[in-house]
Amino acid sequence: MAQTLTRPVLSVAVPTPLRRCLDYLPPSSLSIEAVSGLLPGMRIRVPLGPRRVVGILVAIGDHSEVEHEKMRAAEEILDETPLLPHTLVNLIGWAARYYHHPVGEAWQAALPQLLRVGRAPDSAGTLLWRLSRDGLGLPSRALPRAPKQAKLIDLLRHQGQLDRESIAAADISTAVMRQLEQKGLIEKFTGNPHHAVPSPAIDSPKLNEGQQAALLSITSVMPGYQCHLLEGITGSGKTEVYLRLIEQTLNVGGQVLVLIPEIGLTPQTLDRFRHRFGAAVVTYNSEMSDRERLSAWNSMRTGSASVVIGTRSGVWLPMAKPGLIIVDEEHDISYKQQDGFRYHARDIAIKRAQLESVPVVLGSATPSLETLSNAVSGRFHHHALPVRAGGAALPDVRTMDVRKAELESGLSGDLLEQINIELSQNRQVLLFINRRGYAPSLLCHDCGWIASCHACDARLTVHARDRHLRCHQCEFSTPLPGHCSQCGSRQLLAMGVGTQRTEETLRKLVPNVPVLRVDRDSTARRGSMENILRTVNAGEPCILIGTQMLAKGHHFANVSLVGVLDADHGLFSADLRGSERMAQLLVQVSGRAGRTNIPGQVIIQTHYPEHPMLQSLLQQGYPEFARSLLAERQLVEMPPYSHMAIIRAESPSSRTAEETLRNCRSQCETNLSMVNMLGPLPSTLSRRAGHFRFFLMLRSTDRAPLHQAVDAVIAILTAKGATRNCRWSVDIDPMESG
Ligand code: ADP
Ligand code: ZN
Ligand code: ZN
Repeated sequence: MAQTLTRPVLSVAVPTPLRRCLDYLPPSSLSIEAVSGLLPGMRIRVPLGPRRVVGILVAIGDHSEVEHEKMRAAEEILDETPLLPHTLVNLIGWAARYYHHPVGEAWQAALPQLLRVGRAPDSAGTLLWRLSRDGLGLPSRALPRAPKQAKLIDLLRHQGQLDRESIAAADISTAVMRQLEQKGLIEKFTGNPHHAVPSPAIDSPKLNEGQQAALLSITSVMPGYQCHLLEGITGSGKTEVYLRLIEQTLNVGGQVLVLIPEIGLTPQTLDRFRHRFGAAVVTYNSEMSDRERLSAWNSMRTGSASVVIGTRSGVWLPMAKPGLIIVDEEHDISYKQQDGFRYHARDIAIKRAQLESVPVVLGSATPSLETLSNAVSGRFHHHALPVRAGGAALPDVRTMDVRKAELESGLSGDLLEQINIELSQNRQVLLFINRRGYAPSLLCHDCGWIASCHACDARLTVHARDRHLRCHQCEFSTPLPGHCSQCGSRQLLAMGVGTQRTEETLRKLVPNVPVLRVDRDSTARRGSMENILRTVNAGEPCILIGTQMLAKGHHFANVSLVGVLDADHGLFSADLRGSERMAQLLVQVSGRAGRTNIPGQVIIQTHYPEHPMLQSLLQQGYPEFARSLLAERQLVEMPPYSHMAIIRAESPSSRTAEETLRNCRSQCETNLSMVNMLGPLPSTLSRRAGHFRFFLMLRSTDRAPLHQAVDAVIAILTAKGATRNCRWSVDIDPMESG
């Protein structure tokens, strides 16, 4: 029964899977005045069962459904002022509702780890380096045989102090730092970095007509919310437009949030931002330590930094003076969190821009169909940059028919010949393969047995270097077997092509040229990607082999040939977004060729050169191709012309998983005529890590009935006993339809 209380009721988001806030009384030690000073967005330590947890105060009310006597008191208020401005408090609340996710967990995802455990926002400081007393006394040119060490000494002499990122941005490795530290010439300390005032853009190129028009149009409505799509082909100068927009925003005292895909931030890009805006730029990504992240978070919150370049979770960073939000490569699926709180950072960015009344710019050479439809309908402003800036031409793209061709580790003789020609002209070559590892499967030549994961519906990938079989879906790994586990034969064949295999073959075939592999395995160690990029950027002939990691954002000046080893698997994808993805990947990877004044070419190996999708992409280009995909989606009322939610269930028992979803469907279907339901069906990967996986798809042309349906399903799933032995999740606007 609701009742009025004299003491206010604190509604707190606690870190649990609960789908609502919990009510608490203010800490008993708090005076009346202190209680009246409480504001949403402050952290608060509260009891939760036997534990004490850090929650967020989201509302202060005067009544509760819980009886007064049963309500527990909060223990301690952790912040004197709200941790986040009210727009962000609202944004997180909105996102939890929109994605139907427990509000406490949404808050967890939005805050850096150290804040979640109760640390003060300014407690991290930053690890900085400076010259030691000996270092200061060092005569100039004292280290003639260690140019990198000398460079760092020089830098520190001029700047006084540097954080690790700035040192890395100056192309100086941690090894060099360690050497100087051991010599006692430099030392670490914790402090606050000077986030210097941006220097004027001295060496920015004169914008071309398209860039100028986009810039004018975007700035003409600043401040105030508007969403812009900057659709510019690879190398058309989108980044240059961002830099100008940032410059103008900083000039009027605003801050800028720049979102980039998971692995899109190359040292080159960071360099470019730092070069323009100096130490006013901070970064925020998963490679940083908790301390570094809190420090970046706090410098944006206090306004001591002006620009942050962050990956997905950067969208939650507070800004003291929000001025502009940029989402680079907005089509990239790494913006969508694929587990837990399944939010899409681009969509959150747009909502945030609305709440903060600032413009948001989405940039891409290959916009997502969602964004494109908004541009076509006029909801977003559309700016096109159809030519490459700085005079570079688009590469010549052609298919290479590999039917009947002899393939060696995926390479046709013709492609190999072209590779040799490019190398002999001192150019670089980039080869794209969609599989890491050595070979996607291991097959018995005598009986046909295939090595599969015991826990997943997946084949094991051969990793030759450490002689292991690995599952790419779970953690399972086992030494390479010597014989078939079915018939005992020793005739085991590695089938198919992964990055390692092509690397091995090319090392043999082209022995005197470096072969560099870029995939999750080769770049697992911190700094390894930087090393590879350094070699490429030195410009000497080399062959780069890699997965999608290579397709994103890189600017390789001397790459003249891009080879796509196998376009076929993308042509027959069952996923709703299969064609869109394939087209984006092909265009992005092609965009790495011929980025300067040397002409580039792209060769796509395929068994289906006349495939209509491939043909239409190559002949019409992405903008046309994407628009015809849009027309198709409209015809069948698929997203973005309808809205989708997927409910997934998984269980060690296949029946349980399926029944759970069947139940949901039968219990709520009759009331939901506006919602189209499909399933339960087995997921594309029908078993993972020992769990059978099923999904139920809900679709509607209107958002409201869809969200009602999801609420109804959640009510069924959260009822007592409904989901014994079964895990489930809700995915709104799913990126994978299965
Ligand atoms: P995108 O972000 O679209 O891939 P960039 O902004 O990185 O494109 O530009 C590609 C290359 O062209 C860069 O080397 C950049 O310095 C150069 N560039 C960009 N705009 C201009 C311009 N207006 N004039 C000359 N060069 C330019
Ligand atoms: Zn066998
Ligand atoms: Zn597995």
